[in-house]
Amino acid sequence: MESTSKRLELTQHLVELFENTPQDVISKIVYLLQGKIRPDFEGIELGVAEKLAIRAISKSSGLTTKKIEEEYRKTGDLGQAATIILEQKTQTTFLVENITIERVYETLFKIARLEGSRSQDMKMKYISSLLNDATPVEASFILKILLGTLRLGVAENTVMDALAIAYTGSKENRKALEHAYNVSSDLGKVAETVASKGIKGVEDFEIILFNPIRPMLADRVKSEREAIEKMGDEFAAEYKLDGERVQIHVDGEKAVLFSRSLENISKYYPDIIEKIPKSVLSDQVILEAEAVAINENTGEFLPFQELMHRRRKYKIEKAVSQYPITVNFFDILFYNGKSCLDVEYQERRKMLEKTVKEDEYSKHVPMKLIKSENDLEDFLENSINSGCEGVMLKMLDKPYQAGARGSFWLKLKREYRNELGDSLDLVVIGAFFGKGRRTGLYGTLLLASYDEDTDTFTSICKVGTGFTDEYLDQLYQILSSKVTIKKNPRINSEMEADVWFEPELVIEIVATEITLSPIHKAAMDEIRKGSGLALRFPKFTGKIRFEKFAEDASTNEEVINLYKGQKKMAHDKNLM
Ligand code: ATP
Repeated sequence: MESTSKRLELTQHLVELFENTPQDVISKIVYLLQGKIRPDFEGIELGVAEKLAIRAISKSSGLTTKKIEEEYRKTGDLGQAATIILEQKTQTTFLVENITIERVYETLFKIARLEGSRSQDMKMKYISSLLNDATPVEASFILKILLGTLRLGVAENTVMDALAIAYTGSKENRKALEHAYNVSSDLGKVAETVASKGIKGVEDFEIILFNPIRPMLADRVKSEREAIEKMGDEFAAEYKLDGERVQIHVDGEKAVLFSRSLENISKYYPDIIEKIPKSVLSDQVILEAEAVAINENTGEFLPFQELMHRRRKYKIEKAVSQYPITVNFFDILFYNGKSCLDVEYQERRKMLEKTVKEDEYSKHVPMKLIKSENDLEDFLENSINSGCEGVMLKMLDKPYQAGARGSFWLKLKREYRNELGDSLDLVVIGAFFGKGRRTGLYGTLLLASYDEDTDTFTSICKVGTGFTDEYLDQLYQILSSKVTIKKNPRINSEMEADVWFEPELVIEIVATEITLSPIHKAAMDEIRKGSGLALRFPKFTGKIRFEKFAEDASTNEEVINLYKGQKKMAHDKNLM
């Protein structure tokens, strides 16, 4: 699988693998294929550092760590280095115990669970015991999983295609699997269900309280006129608050909170966990809300950055009292043990209003029925005056489409109405050292968009404006822990940065224009052969999108759409 990026071939390999997989290990195989041991939302990290892995290889091979580092430098991949080293060794030893999926999985689990002072030594023992019994190729993959560098290029959709073919005989059934995945965020569980109960089991799959539901996302529109054209005669508009999206699962007194990227973020919001169950007039519910920082004296909404204070590890309590929030509810997905995903928006809104009691802390997001462009203009202006980013437009008779970006919801932001003017969320892949006031810091960052087809990060611009001194310091602190010795293979950039980072951090950028570029790799060859797309006059908006994964960054498809949109706008202007 590592040697191909063709989706059909990958699917074929997976089908063959699944057809030969016993039911009781299918979920484990599905997690391991993605370099995980449990679904993301459980937050189980293997957390093995390169240094520790090198020590384990040294213990298993009898070679010094120096020798192993040398080999690592030559190949640029520790897994591959281990294969080469262990190949020389296996000729002289014999295997003690077979390497089975169960054993690898259980051992990885034990490693992830270890904590405390002796944990490093214990981890090393576990790793080297696996390496002792593994073939050199197995060792390479075990190490890649441990280090988080496994890149088989199998996106969730490819895995679902293969599961559908292997267990139901038809790729057409992928849709049902996708639904199960969208409501559980657990591909292992979906695999287990289709393997043991077939397509019927998947179709009956239900929401599980405390398993996050993948969020519904919105398409963007640029003007009130375009919004009316797309939404029809009557629709709902809500304030688009500039905070953090939270999915709140409540069962009696217990509450758990998930972020937009489905991370369990309960620990950052102890106030929500304590207060919300008291405002909910039903036993088992899943609600969606925007948590927004407020000025306690005036009740005014404050910008998103204010929520950053809650991300500090040890001072949460202080942050909670110093930076108060309100929780602004906009949807209900589960009510009294039943899914509401298929209920139409206007009914869900009524249920929401009945279920959540409003007070100083819990609010219903302001909503208005819109029947004309005037109504919309008016509502947009009010929303911006109260500190919001714009409005969300929602079709009245449509269900909640978990995990999909579609046209049942549209977003209209103020900034869309000028220049390019949409903001992009881009991944920081590299940096150039600063001069003058920025000496010793990263003065300019190299940014990338996400290419979904190849699962890579393609360079799109350098950015050096929009950074205050405070931001420069903060970014330096965050980024210096992400520096890599070699450029990560998922980065596609011809430009050579002074330092390369693990592609993880996402920041928000505005720009005046998208242009064709001979150097940058975003959307290469898509508009013109030999050219990519680049941002002109990019500027950091001050938003670090810590709630987004790199894979949630703006995609090349979105960049192409923006490029085409601006062309169309220029054309329309010329006609006027
Ligand atoms: P953006 O970068 O614009 O926040 P996104 O990619 O995070 O977009 P979108 O679906 O495109 O997600 O925009 C919707 C986001 O807006 C939600 O994720 C949520 O955080 C926020 N939001 C604010 N108010 C609302 C609302 N009333 N209804 C839905 N989402 C809202």
